[in-house]
Amino acid sequence: MRGVLRPGLAICARPLGHAVLRGVVILTLAAWLALGCWAPAASAEEGMWLPSQLPGLAEELQAAGLELDAGKLGDLSSYPLGAVVSLGGCTASFVSDQGLVVTNHHCAYGSIQHNSTPANNILEHGFLAQTVADELPAAPGSRVLVTLAIEDVTARILAAVPAGARGQERFDAIEAAEKALVAECEQQEGVRCRVSSFHGGLSYQLITQLEIRDVRLVYAPARSVGKYGGEVDNWMWPRHTGDFSFLRAYVGPDGRPADPSPENVPYRPRHWLRVAPGGVADGDFVMVAGYPGRTSRYRLADEVAHTVDWYYPASIKVSRELLGHIERALERYPDARLTLAPMLSGIHNRTKNNEGMLVGFDRTDVVGAKREFESRLTAWINADPQLASRYGDVLGELRALVAEEQRDREQELYWGIANRWPMLGAASTLYRLAQERRKPDLEREPGFQERDLRRIRERMERIATSYDARVDRLVAFDRIKMYATLPAEQRVAVFDRYLGIAGGGGIDEGALNLKLDAMYAGTRLDDLATRLAWMDADVDAFAASDDPFIRLAVALYPVELEREAKEETLRGHFQEVRPRFMEALIAYQRSQGAAVYPDANATLRVTYGNVAGYHPQDAVWYEPFTKLEGLLEKETGVEPFDSPAALLDAIRAGDTGPYALASLGSVPVNLLSTLDTTGGNSGSPTLNRRGELVGLLFDGAWESLLSDYDYEPERVRSIHADVRYMLWVMDRVDGAHRLLREMGVEPRYAAR
Ligand code: GLU
Repeated sequence: MRGVLRPGLAICARPLGHAVLRGVVILTLAAWLALGCWAPAASAEEGMWLPSQLPGLAEELQAAGLELDAGKLGDLSSYPLGAVVSLGGCTASFVSDQGLVVTNHHCAYGSIQHNSTPANNILEHGFLAQTVADELPAAPGSRVLVTLAIEDVTARILAAVPAGARGQERFDAIEAAEKALVAECEQQEGVRCRVSSFHGGLSYQLITQLEIRDVRLVYAPARSVGKYGGEVDNWMWPRHTGDFSFLRAYVGPDGRPADPSPENVPYRPRHWLRVAPGGVADGDFVMVAGYPGRTSRYRLADEVAHTVDWYYPASIKVSRELLGHIERALERYPDARLTLAPMLSGIHNRTKNNEGMLVGFDRTDVVGAKREFESRLTAWINADPQLASRYGDVLGELRALVAEEQRDREQELYWGIANRWPMLGAASTLYRLAQERRKPDLEREPGFQERDLRRIRERMERIATSYDARVDRLVAFDRIKMYATLPAEQRVAVFDRYLGIAGGGGIDEGALNLKLDAMYAGTRLDDLATRLAWMDADVDAFAASDDPFIRLAVALYPVELEREAKEETLRGHFQEVRPRFMEALIAYQRSQGAAVYPDANATLRVTYGNVAGYHPQDAVWYEPFTKLEGLLEKETGVEPFDSPAALLDAIRAGDTGPYALASLGSVPVNLLSTLDTTGGNSGSPTLNRRGELVGLLFDGAWESLLSDYDYEPERVRSIHADVRYMLWVMDRVDGAHRLLREMGVEPRYAAR
């Protein structure tokens, strides 16, 4: 299991003998981890490092080629980390002193679609604000989040857990402690705070972020550049996608975060990235700073086996089926495709990713390697009475919880398909809000506190441009039919009764269609003002409502609470057992001279490595750069290989300006690196050895998708948009000269 057991790593308090490790140090592991008090001596590419760990990596970073002061690289208030931001789900960075932000095209996709209409389809044709005044509002809910502080709060969280608390009691105690910390933290103006857990709850960090909530769309290339290659090329190399776009962060005239308003002014960040128009070459040092979402490198063999043998196959099957239903509905209402584009992209992207993972799991026996690792770990624990008394039963306990978690897997999957209607989602959220509002703020369910009201309103607003009732109505029928393949005892009786699908003998399709017609015709929740008005309604008003979706939401509420309680109890048990397992695993790794970095959890990380090609299969070598001419080779004139004519003309004219890589004889379009990344890293700035912008990370290569579970150094490759292609498109093709100048890059071509 290469992802977990990698030799050749050293720890900061070296040398530490076995006896010390086994006797004392294990008890202080949480603090030790929080301090980032260890560093790898080899194998640079693997690892999504916490900023606090970077000083400990100084020697390795310098040896790998970093020219910045490695000791300061982890400093949030310095260059370059101070310029890296989260968009909540994606990463981005400031590239000017006027709050200009660069990210991926696919990260701004929702905002581009939000501003598109059939008559002014900027998703298809691209958008360039000619002046600051022309910049468009990003989709409701858009944020630019600047991490200001990261503080270890493990002691405070754990002190709040009563001795021996288990299950629901433990979960509640941790959640209450988190909410209290967040409330305290958000006393500061303009910040959003959260508590993130590491290693399943072995340590906790309080993250403070400046929350900029007026975000605008500045520039996006045409679909045939930004999404070039579509789903055919997605997760693949060789790639030629111009996956970049620009946003701008705005604040109130006083410089503080403010609601969107024409009065607002561009935010002046303390740091913004310098652009390196010369880019990088094969073998060069590169690093990425960003917000990777989730990896599962320390999961048990049983968990991975479940994922490989059941979860991915089952979820791919239902996703493909659902996509088929949506496509059929779109044949009837083709004009809805634009509205539903982000939703469709999301399902396609996840499904193809899962398919790639399965190919990876076929090639590598991750489950077998994990089983073998678990036996070694068990033998090591049992060989020492002290360890055996603390950890002897931990694997067994964790396996039992995993088995419990998997018990209702079909029900979870199909219920997730059945109830995912925007109108039902809106009704459930609004009703839950009315229920939670009856409690004091700190006792409410997270997501329904006063601090969440703005986000709920934004979600209600976003439905206005992302929902098509006609398609939704047709697909609702298919969703219910898929769900109804579950045996009756696994279904939700209240839901079945409401829809009239209870009882044996299969579904009466005619009756179901009539019921759905009546629900869609009868609801008023598809009107934004109505949805917003319900945000202020009380529980009695919901109980008295005859809106069909509200009535269903009210009926489902007790079911929702019951499911939630079950889930929280289980999570409470995991919160007790998983940290103990991780503690044992880390102690074992240390005894082997290896270190363990935490799985990705949407917190800021840095990863470093090199530009490098790879062997995807026997006798095949993938070069690390694609070039302009590759676009001509792929061109068919048909989506997704239908580059704009101006772009094709510029390539045919050999017009590379100063943006070519000499060894390539052309402008590099995309590049490969050995960096350890995952979803959430999208939009992360790719930095050279001086911390200058040389690209944007946007994808992982097909053969490396398994890296969410197991890191294979010879195959794991990230895919980046090369900065030279971005600048060339902006300069030569789209005439985004205003933005180039703002970034300190003098355009070479005449404005068009
Ligand atoms: N494959 C995705 C795309 O190009 C992005 C990567 C991700 O979802 O992590 O749209």
